[in-house]
Parts: sequence; structure tokens; C-alpha cells
Amino acid sequence: MMSQGRPTTPHTSDAVGHETVSGNKALAQRELLIFEIGTPRRTGIDFPELKNTPSRLGGVERTQEIGLPGLSEPEVMRHYVRLSQKNYAIDLGVYPLGSCTMKHNPRLNEKMARLPGFADLHPLQPHSTVQGALELMGDLAHWILTLTGMPAVALSPKAGAHGELCGMMAIRAALDAKGADHKRRVLVPESAHGTNPATAVQCGFSIDSIPATEDGRVDMDALKAKLGDDVAGIMLTNPNTCGLFERDIIEIADLIHGVGGYFYCDGANFNALVGRVRPGDLGIDAMHLNLHKTFSTPHGGGGPGSGPTVLSDALAPYAPVPRVESQDGVWHLVENVEDADGESFGRMTAFHGQMGMFVRALSYMLSHGSDGLKQATEDAVLNANYVQAALSDVMTPAFSGTCMHEALFDDRFLKDTGVETLDFAKAMIDEGYHPMTMYFPLVVHGAMLIEPTESESKAELDRFIAVMRSLAVKAVSGEVEMFKAAPIYAPLRRLDETRAARKPVLKWTPSEG
Ligand SMILES: *Cc1c(COP(=O)(O)O)cnc(C)c1O
Repeated sequence: MMSQGRPTTPHTSDAVGHETVSGNKALAQRELLIFEIGTPRRTGIDFPELKNTPSRLGGVERTQEIGLPGLSEPEVMRHYVRLSQKNYAIDLGVYPLGSCTMKHNPRLNEKMARLPGFADLHPLQPHSTVQGALELMGDLAHWILTLTGMPAVALSPKAGAHGELCGMMAIRAALDAKGADHKRRVLVPESAHGTNPATAVQCGFSIDSIPATEDGRVDMDALKAKLGDDVAGIMLTNPNTCGLFERDIIEIADLIHGVGGYFYCDGANFNALVGRVRPGDLGIDAMHLNLHKTFSTPHGGGGPGSGPTVLSDALAPYAPVPRVESQDGVWHLVENVEDADGESFGRMTAFHGQMGMFVRALSYMLSHGSDGLKQATEDAVLNANYVQAALSDVMTPAFSGTCMHEALFDDRFLKDTGVETLDFAKAMIDEGYHPMTMYFPLVVHGAMLIEPTESESKAELDRFIAVMRSLAVKAVSGEVEMFKAAPIYAPLRRLDETRAARKPVLKWTPSEG
């Protein structure tokens, strides 16, 4: 059987054009879809045949094959282990994906998250039986409020973008409570993360974008020109997606407040600020944190996200339920809007958020301590600047001066070489590195955004830098064919990414014959 919409013969030709009979590459096994290797009647368990047992399904028994692949236990094990070996991971090597903060996830966090008292809870258990878990949420909230200098936090949002939705819904609720239905325009700087304008539109606002200056920050004159009574607020990312601190942030807050608007700050990049800057001191009204970036905890293929959202005094009354509270040493969740102080805009998730991520994040905070968190921030910024400085003579930094937690290059150094950012990224794969973020932020041509995080040692960074330098030199010295052919050693070579995005094949259908 063959799958649809996917190459049936693996691309196994290597540099000398040799193809293996098996499709395997040395000890890297070729792997088919589970539907292709399974057969319906094979199974990993044996149940005795039922005898003389009347059906109690009331005539709704399945009459056809269930259509699931059947495999024995060793076949299942091998399938998933082989797949896992194709997956590049932070536990395998440098993962310099800018804006994603792929930092090491300490195993201590995992150990804590697996404690039965946390892992085996049911979200509907009576509060009296989950006091420890509620206290953990309370402690996490305390750390978040202390680190951000903000008065309130909603823990339930389940990702960064979900946290944005929380903050913007609070802003919308605050405006509605004032009867300010003429305030529907949200200012969004060009360097904003793509989720920002999407969130504002989702909440019924229109977007007005603000250009960036030559040095990658908000153009203050353009911002002032856009102010008006219909402005609901601004959504600003700081540090922005160019990896730069918005130096005019306090003035921006004052200007927005001056027209009766609210200041949403995208705090996904809080890992560049922890222990150094508190958003509460910058006039911010709402900001989400990505626990799964700043406070480690696996994400992407490795786990779910968690996007607690801090709120200012002006927005706190509108925070969603549930809220975790303690009274006389007893913890409980305020579950209903009617029982919550203020005018909660409602509920964002079925239960209370991502418990496993709360445990991991608090474990990370407690094991680092406030001094350790500050050092992690400083090391992350130092590492990014080390990378930027070490590459700036062979690649072209997009902006001059120091960066925050990520180093941003553009493609000027590739001019007239025939090599493009994409080719450069593919060549990195052959060298054993996950590519950096590319073509983002959009304001920079052929962008290459590198975020080393604090996890990497100097020795590891030096190896990475040496590879990047030699690739840059090869590109300039005319080795264009090598770049266009890359990746040569990957299980699959160049995929039609546009087609995959535009026409995804999400359902497997058996081929004829
Ligand atoms: C990652 C990120 C987001 C979105 O976070 P998710 O958890 O992926 O929803 C938003 N803004 C910025 C700046 C980010 O880096």
C-alpha cells in the first residue's frame, strides 16, 4: 500500500548519488506511515474469544472493519522510536530558532511534574483533596506577579496567543463597561508578532499598523500621528521581534493612556527581561508570559503551552475565571463569574489551565531563585550578543548596536551570490544544526533570527559560530551548487513547503490495489 500525497520512494541519494536497496541510510531507518505498515488483524494483545455473551449494544454494533492499523507491540515500539529519531530536538543539539526560545528543559521539572500528587489529579476533584495543587498555582501566581510587578494574573490561557486573547478580551470588556464602543482601532507596530493583529481582529478591533524606524524600533512620529479618540489600545512586542528593546516604551504607554487606550505588551520574550525589568513599571496594562519559553518547559512537538496573562489594576476586575484564592489557609478556585469580584469577562478554558506546565515553571523558578533567573536572562542576552559579534564580519546584522536575546541578520551578505536565506538554512541542516528562524520578522529582508538562549556553553556556541562562518564564506566564494542541493543528508530533501501549507493532506486514504 502506498500513501497519498507523499513521495513513495525515499530520497536516498547522497552526495555521490548512491541509493540503498532498503531505502535506509546506514542505521537511520526508512519509516512508512503506521497505516502502511499495519494490517487490520495484527494485534499486540490477546483477548479470549467471547462465548455466549449477549450483545448489550442495542443493535449499534460495528458491522465493518474499524479501519485502524494493527501492529504487534515490538512493531509499535520500533515505529515510534524511529519517528522520534527523525525529530530534531533541544536534547539533541543547538536549536537556534529565534522567537521560539528553545532552551534546555531541566529534568528536575519533569520529575516534579510526574509526582503522582500532581500528575494523577482529576480536574473535577473536590478542592479539599487538591489543596497542594491549588497552593502550587497560588505560589506560581505570586512569582509571576513579583517578577512582572503587576497586580493580577490569569493563569488559565493555554498558549501565548491564547494569553493575547485573554488580555484583549479584558480590554474589550473594560471598554464595553465604559460604553466606549467608538474605540475600535488597535495600533500594531510592523515588528509585532503575527499573532498580535490576529488577536485584535478576533476581538472585533481593526488594525492600524505603525512603521519601524531605521534602527528597528517604533516610529514615534508615526505613532503620534495615528493617535485619536477611537484608539482602543496598542499591541507592542518588547523586546520586539527584531530582538531589540523598545526604548520609548514609557512614552508609548503615556501616549496611549492619554487617549484613553490600553497598552497590551506581548511578553513572549520576557526571557530577555526577567530580573532586570518589570513590565508593571512600564505602564503596561496586559501582558502574557509564555511559560513554555521563558520558564523552560517543553513546547512545540514536546508539549503544550501555557500563557498566563498579567493585568493592571484597570483590567484586573475583568479577568477570566477560574481564579485561585486562599482564605484562612484554605485554597479554592472561584469557578463562576457571579462568585468573582469585579466583572469577569467569563471563562477561557474548560478547567484551570495547563497544570503540568505550572509545575514545571514553578520548579524552574524555585530551582533558579530570583538571582538565578536574573543570571539566566543576562546569559541569554550575552550569548546572543556573542553570536552577533562573532558573525558580524561575514554576515550582515540587520541593525547596528547590541541586541537583546536574539541576533538578527539580513541577507545583504548573500547579495549576488545566488544563495538565498532558504538555501543557507538548508545547508545548516547538513551540518547538523536546526536552522534559525528565517524570513521573520518581515520588516527585515531575508531575515535570519538566531536565539541561542542561556543553555548553550561557550564551546557549543563556538562550534556553531565556526559552521556559520564557513557557510557564509562558501556562499560568497561561489559554492552555490552545494547550497542549492542542500540538504543532502536529511531523510527527505527539499519539500514543497508551499504546497504542504496550502494543500495539506490531513487524511490518509488507502490507495487502489
Ligand atoms: C511565541 C510567540 C507568540 C505566540 O505564542 P504561542 O504559545 O505559540 O501561542 C506570540 N508572540 C511572540 C513574540 C512569540 O515569540
